[in-house]
Amino acid sequence: MLQRIIMHIDVNSAYLSWEAAHRLQHGDPLDLRTVPSVVGGNEQTRHGIVLTKSIPAKPFGIQTGETLHSARTKCPGLLVVPPNYSLYMQCSQALGDLLREYSSLIEQYSVDEYFLDFTDSKKLFGDPIQAAHNIKNRIREELGFTVNIGVSSNKLLAKMGSELQKPDRVHTLFPEEVEKKMWSLPVEELFMVGRATARKLQDRSVRTIGHLANADPDWLKLILKSLGLLVWNYANGRDLSLVRINRHPVVKAFKKKGDEMLAIKKETSTTANNSNVIKAIIKSNKKHSKMMSKLAK
Ligand SMILES: [Mg+2]
Repeated sequence: MLQRIIMHIDVNSAYLSWEAAHRLQHGDPLDLRTVPSVVGGNEQTRHGIVLTKSIPAKPFGIQTGETLHSARTKCPGLLVVPPNYSLYMQCSQALGDLLREYSSLIEQYSVDEYFLDFTDSKKLFGDPIQAAHNIKNRIREELGFTVNIGVSSNKLLAKMGSELQKPDRVHTLFPEEVEKKMWSLPVEELFMVGRATARKLQDRSVRTIGHLANADPDWLKLILKSLGLLVWNYANGRDLSLVRINRHPVVKAFKKKGDEMLAIKKETSTTANNSNVIKAIIKSNKKHSKMMSKLAK
């Protein structure tokens, strides 16, 4: 069987990078990525949370999802910029347009993530790893922000590959590299292993992705039901899902409920003027919270 070539393209600290690139293009001398800064919602009510943080904000212990109040306590000089969802949609679309030059088979996975099926593009563009470097560099030079690209033969491994060292990197994670590159990672870093699932596994001494890969699938099924089999396959690098062209726009769902999601819906409804976008957000939020509550059980 022909080996598929799949890429996963993920914008590094998307909201912050996009805001930084936008400000630089408009003559602001400060690059937000070089100082402790966050994108965070609703400063007026001061109930907002951190949506994205800069790399210099990380040493202060600032976490995505924590309140702005708490983030400011950790780092008094912290620069807080409000979210700008219409800008994110423009950047996301520009990224999609550039990627479509390399394949007609691309799937938008979230506002800052795309899958690209490169299998047939090899004839036109040659070596996939070289092509991934070219794509990454073009995005940086033409669009002004950096991405990580994971290259593999399936979506799961491409996605896991893009999560390796950041920013501005291309990583391969082919099935034969899984043991070396993925098995030593903590189990919670595997796609679909949420906090509650990770806790259940850790309580039973399954601490790394490698432990999970080598666990008995029947035992995992007892503990995690059908999710057990799915994550066991993922830990072994197996995934047969296809890159699908989206029928609806995709907007990233948020883990934190309440204030922030409402803000997104409002913002989108006034700026995007597209009822499909709003429906997609509501749907993806519903799906996401359903999935989260399922995983929490
Ligand atoms: Mg990202």
